[in-house]
Amino acid sequence: MKERMISVASQTQQAVVCPSCQAELTFSVIPHTAPHLYCMHCQNAYHETHGQAKHQKIWWERIANRTMHEIQSHAPVCECGGLFLFNAYPHCTHCGYSFTFTIPSKLKARLLYGDLVVFHGSKVYLDNGTHNLYQFAA
Ligand SMILES: [Zn+2]
Ligand SMILES: [Zn+2]
Repeated sequence: MKERMISVASQTQQAVVCPSCQAELTFSVIPHTAPHLYCMHCQNAYHETHGQAKHQKIWWERIANRTMHEIQSHAPVCECGGLFLFNAYPHCTHCGYSFTFTIPSKLKARLLYGDLVVFHGSKVYLDNGTHNLYQFAA
């Protein structure tokens, strides 16, 4: 699988302490990345790069639900063996704790939510079969 390295500048990194294992982590928010799904187990994510404008017109949770299931079915299996699911959240890189941040739980809001959370070493799989690997600059 083709890999593209993306260097995350230190000024866009934010600190967070995992409430479960107390690890000090740095994360970054990548805007305009809707729709996306997180892996059920790890810090990786899947971003469906096309169709965002189309999803703006979805008003009903029921249709959003169907759309999210479609996006799930397009997603590859993560390198960890996990699935990318719309009800998954970014996981602590040490203990797997789910960070909710300000990520909405309602389907339609989740579908349109563009702020993707990445940690150092997060892989974001794309719908063209490639993935981006996020490397945090010191
Ligand atoms: Zn995974
Ligand atoms: Zn943790």
